Amino acid sequence: MDIHEYQAKEILSGFGVAVPPGALAYSPEQAAYRAREIGGERWVVKAQVHTGGRGKAGGVSFCKSDREIERACEKMFGRKLVTHQTGPEGKGIYRIYVEGAVPIEREFYLGFVLDRSSQRVMIVASAEGGVEIEDISAEKPDSIVRSIVEPAVGLQEFQCREIAFRLGVEPKLIQQMVRTMQGCYRAFTELDATMVEINPLVVTGDDHVLALDAKMTFDSNALFRHPQVAELRDKSQEDPREARAADRGLNYVGLEGDIGCIVNGAGLAMATMDTIKLAGGEPANFLDIGGGATPERVAKAFRLVMSDRNVGAVLVNIFAGINRCDWVAKGVVQALQEVQLNVPVIVRLAGNNVDEGQNILAGSGLPIIRANTLTEAAERAVGAWKNDISQRDTKRSVS
Ligand code: ADP
Ligand code: MG
Repeated sequence: MDIHEYQAKEILSGFGVAVPPGALAYSPEQAAYRAREIGGERWVVKAQVHTGGRGKAGGVSFCKSDREIERACEKMFGRKLVTHQTGPEGKGIYRIYVEGAVPIEREFYLGFVLDRSSQRVMIVASAEGGVEIEDISAEKPDSIVRSIVEPAVGLQEFQCREIAFRLGVEPKLIQQMVRTMQGCYRAFTELDATMVEINPLVVTGDDHVLALDAKMTFDSNALFRHPQVAELRDKSQEDPREARAADRGLNYVGLEGDIGCIVNGAGLAMATMDTIKLAGGEPANFLDIGGGATPERVAKAFRLVMSDRNVGAVLVNIFAGINRCDWVAKGVVQALQEVQLNVPVIVRLAGNNVDEGQNILAGSGLPIIRANTLTEAAERAVGAWKNDISQRDTKRSVS
């Protein structure tokens, strides 16, 4: 789960990371009022959107007066911010963070990620901050410092100092750097984060080390033990289809294609998507209904897939081990009886209780297309979808 910059800053400052003074606003007037409360002569108005690259996309604006703040906010509020990370549909701006503008002397990149190969938290840092880490690694890979934290002892001061030296931080600032790194590491581990990123971490003209941007991502499976983090979720920033799926405990990722997929197991879901592509189609989603899916759960999955208007055919592919084909079949039938379905449905069942499952489908009287293998299922799904489209086109041109 992602959170907003202002929320990440609030969390990190609770762990000793220094940030500029700032406040949240829901309207242009409130933003101007907040700026006066903060004081100073220059402010930064920042769109709170779950994406990086806001600066380049017009989501960060420098202002010198009330009027400038209000004007910058009017341009942002309610608009969709499109960055290289959001896709063309962008993400809505409903909250704006106003912050005192600070004089920047140097910009660093500081990130904490899970390194899967060492199974440890890895610190990634660079003296080329302010630029996306992908660009740094493409253009100045030698500037990147990587350091793995030994969990038994945690992030030690000497390790932070070593990183700071490698970044060329001046000796008088090293203590502030150590404090920042240790604060991030503690926030990361204590709150079950999967990523903490400060970009840029800056040194100001008056020798302060400050986090000017902050991103945190949390392990969704651990949110139950951090209610204070769970409540920071902002559904307005999520794909509505994915938000609905998460609420129903389904693993769903929306995609751009036409063939809706209902599959058990992440591996089989990936293979199904590949096979659809091989058969000349494009998957509309990734959906893993998981093991032990009840008929109700299958029906929920169906409704979810069908809520995507791009879906032109639904492919159900179940290889039942823990699951039961008869339950899946019941779920499919239940869903088809409830939902007005006007697209072809293709079902391939294999494994546990397959005969009972097939009998339920056959006895339902519903126009379900059955397949025995994955290849056959994908080919039939793509074929049925294309056929359906051409029939609709013919009908339209006749009428
Ligand atoms: P993003 O990474 O989404 O583009 P940032 O928060 O990193 O957004 O802001 C973009 C750039 O704006 C930063 O790299 C920094 O140079 C500048 N900036 C952001 N906040 C401040 C601030 N409080 N004072 C001065 N400059 C800032
Ligand atoms: Mg940034």
